[in-house]
Amino acid sequence: MAQSFTILHVEDLKNNRELVRRILESRNYRVVDAVNGMEGIQKAIAIHPDLILMDINLPDLDGFSVVTRLRNHPPLATVPIIAITARNISDDPERARAIGCDGYISKPFSVKQLLDEVDTHIGKPRETQPESRHEHFLREHSATLVEELEHKLNELEAAHAELSAVHERLQRLDEAKTDFIHIAAHELRTPLTTVTAYASMLHSQIKNSDNPMLQEILEGLQTGVDRLNRITGDMVSIARVELSNIELAYMPVSIKSVLLPVLKDFQSTFDERHQTLKLNIPDDLPLIVGDDTQLQQVFSRLIGNAIKYTPDGGTITISANVHTTEKTPNNTQKFIEVSVADTGIGINKSDQGLIFEKFYTAEDTSRHSSGETKFMGGGPGLGLTIARGIVEAHGGRIWVESDGYDPQNPSGSTFFVLLPTEKPSHPRRNQKERQ
Ligand code: ADP
Repeated sequence: MAQSFTILHVEDLKNNRELVRRILESRNYRVVDAVNGMEGIQKAIAIHPDLILMDINLPDLDGFSVVTRLRNHPPLATVPIIAITARNISDDPERARAIGCDGYISKPFSVKQLLDEVDTHIGKPRETQPESRHEHFLREHSATLVEELEHKLNELEAAHAELSAVHERLQRLDEAKTDFIHIAAHELRTPLTTVTAYASMLHSQIKNSDNPMLQEILEGLQTGVDRLNRITGDMVSIARVELSNIELAYMPVSIKSVLLPVLKDFQSTFDERHQTLKLNIPDDLPLIVGDDTQLQQVFSRLIGNAIKYTPDGGTITISANVHTTEKTPNNTQKFIEVSVADTGIGINKSDQGLIFEKFYTAEDTSRHSSGETKFMGGGPGLGLTIARGIVEAHGGRIWVESDGYDPQNPSGSTFFVLLPTEKPSHPRRNQKERQ
């Protein structure tokens, strides 16, 4: 067969493209592929093929629109076009011809069918049928519509490319921010260790002093040092979470043994804030496989927030139960679902995904009070990011449900943590995978 014949094949499915290429190249046709309608139009105009094989179901413009557009481009008016479709719609062959196709093949087709159809049309420029003025105007109008659509798609593609570039830039900036947090935390740790040591020496020197002013200064110094230590600790944890670098010491643990020490630490705060704690944790829950120290961090953040964002006198309810998901009909996976529900200020739906991002705080920070466990006590906005990192490193999931933010009529929030009862095979999702 003639080496010189070039066939443009417009088809979005790779396997189909490869199959058709193999068949046609075995007959010495030269094959050029286009993976969507827009590329089909561009390549047809650029290379002026001897025949076009046009798939009808394309992801951007459908094949009929592409043919309408090509037929209105005078140099392509006589190039034979064969429509290929799996649509199985009875009037499709007639529609294809009316729009300007010369042949029609239904999928799946045999090698012979394809070659017969190509051989019938290739090298024989189509004869254009005389058309009435009415048909002429209709065709012209359809082509104009497709051209407009083509412009819009081009604009959309340009906007998409611009957005992708901005997204990439933001991602790089975010990575730079993580690097900065990482470096700053390490730089701060050295002087902080010195200040902590001197504060403790000072404490032992003047702890028995009866000068109330000195005692007050010492207390203030100690509170400041403790808080700085917690914040730098959070900065180190955040960098680990972002770099998916959390070390987990897996072992079978009961959720109760994870929660009880955390609750003990918060006991005096519950009393101070006159908040009621309710526990609904059955004794016979299966064990989870996880790192209890890291999991304690998760619940410490959730319970700390529940206390902070609930007015004095509110209630915090912690529940746990078994949750089974079906991977496949014969393969189920068991999780423990722990929920921390409060009767606090709530969270708007639009903020519910964002509060897990670093430094994000849902409510006006100017309304924060000082003090970490006081009502609306401010924080750096890192706690939930760290909690999510730890949960996901365990192969689990964390999310929040709330009817919305209303500090006047608080209806509360419930944070859920789903933890697998087996060690995850491919645990964590890093930041890029999550996006
Ligand atoms: P922060 O250090 O600010 O508490 P977190 O990452 O722990 O940081 O929480 C992020 C934001 O999520 C908080 O600033 C707050 O706006 C909101 N939030 C977290 N927990 C609750 C809760 N239980 N009720 C209401 N809002 C909450």
